[in-house]
Amino acid sequence: MNDDPIAPTPPEGLPEQLVSDLNELSPEELRKTIIHAQELLNFQDEVPSAIEPQSGDDIIQVTEHDSYTEVIKQVYCNETCDDCPHGPYLYHVTQEPHPDGTTKAYWRFIGNVPLDDE
Ligand SMILES: [Zn+2]
Repeated sequence: MNDDPIAPTPPEGLPEQLVSDLNELSPEELRKTIIHAQELLNFQDEVPSAIEPQSGDDIIQVTEHDSYTEVIKQVYCNETCDDCPHGPYLYHVTQEPHPDGTTKAYWRFIGNVPLDDE
């Protein structure tokens, strides 16, 4: 083991020139690049919003973290279910890049959240 962080492997399909350009950027420039890339994606209208509740789900709380978004939501399964809503459940949502260039939200179920009634 050495202490040098291993450079991340760029997603397949990212132009080599762009990869080497990105490697030259400062953290601040990288952040601006992300923002601009996000704006371009929004402009092209091909990316759904990061957190897209399924119909019927109740988003209770969304907390942004550096590498993921913490979402607490209640889930409705069926109109005739007496136990609905279920949860609340805690999810960690990450944005996973796909080879076709799109990014999809990946919901990881973490567990039940105890309700604190206020
Ligand atoms: Zn139910």
